[in-house]
Amino acid sequence: MANQVKSVRIAVEEENCCGCMQCMMMCAATWSVEQTLSSSHIEVSRNGEDLYRFNISFDGNCRAGCQLCARWCAYGALTRVGEVS
Ligand code: SF4
Ligand code: SF4
Repeated sequence: MANQVKSVRIAVEEENCCGCMQCMMMCAATWSVEQTLSSSHIEVSRNGEDLYRFNISFDGNCRAGCQLCARWCAYGALTRVGEVS
């Protein structure tokens, strides 16, 4: 079941995430001066001790609606909802 994050118009299905961090790289490369993973506005972190489960969250500086991270997620963990304004 997808968890829709309305403020960023992205549906999140954490169970599909493989932890590739492509979303974090694209966000940081586009929106931060530092261009480091830690400056990304989306965070993918390991869910406890399980190597294959991940948590996905967005910080308060996420450019609501850019959806770039979802465009680059090839695993169906992030899906765009609605149009980019
Ligand atoms: S959300 Fe998608 S792009 Fe980001 S780490 Fe998970 S699988 Fe990779
Ligand atoms: S919607 Fe845009 S600003 Fe927000 S986390 Fe995704 S790429 Fe970064």
